[in-house]
Amino acid sequence: MTLVRCADAARTFGRGDQAVVAVHGCTCAVEPGARIAITGPSGSGKSTVLHLLAGLEVPTGGTVEWPALGATAVERSRDIAVVFQGPSLLPALTVAENVGLAAVLTGVPEAKADQRAVAAMETVGVAALADQLADTLSGGQAQRVAVARAIALRPRLVLADEPTGQLDAETGAHVLDVLLAAAAATGAALVVTTHDPAVATRLAEQWQLTDGRLVVPAEEGVRR
Ligand code: ADP
Ligand code: MG
Repeated sequence: MTLVRCADAARTFGRGDQAVVAVHGCTCAVEPGARIAITGPSGSGKSTVLHLLAGLEVPTGGTVEWPALGATAVERSRDIAVVFQGPSLLPALTVAENVGLAAVLTGVPEAKADQRAVAAMETVGVAALADQLADTLSGGQAQRVAVARAIALRPRLVLADEPTGQLDAETGAHVLDVLLAAAAATGAALVVTTHDPAVATRLAEQWQLTDGRLVVPAEEGVRR
């Protein structure tokens, strides 16, 4: 069953003269097992689409639905994990605490959250950093820890917003390896935004955004 579906979804920020149409006419669906890159230049609406898919933004037009996921935003928060573009770890907590925290906050008992955190850190290859404070990490290490934190929730859908955007090519490629391996290990669907064609071609499907308009390749539309 479809994880998330947008039908003619739009998101406008501001009102009147100040209104900015970030995304319009967005029709797409993410199925279980999907590996999707959303590509487009800066300002084309990538983050806004990702936030709509996550339920972090409410559409100002059209609909966004999660047929296979929980009925409420709280229930869905266990099914959907977001890897944000910029630094998103809590600097004064250790790596292990950062990775375990989201699970605890969504109601997983602490002992189980700890186990999941260890498993996630091992999957992503950051177990050796477990006791280090987050603010001592390099950019690439921090982004891998953010991936570990995302998969520790055992989500059905991982949404990563330019996860390689601030990394050099080699580190970025490694973070993408980690994301793909983690999605494969947990069975989660993966959607990655990127302006880098080298990153986009590593995902099975490419969706193109131009000025807030999403184009999903025709064959994908037919398959659905
Ligand atoms: P991208 O991630 O591709 O760079 P965004 O989705 O961040 O694009 O932004 C798309 C457009 O919407 C841009 O013109 C941006 O300035 C605008 N925008 C995004 N978020 C907001 C906001 N919170 N308030 C006002 N404008 C916004
Ligand atoms: Mg963005």
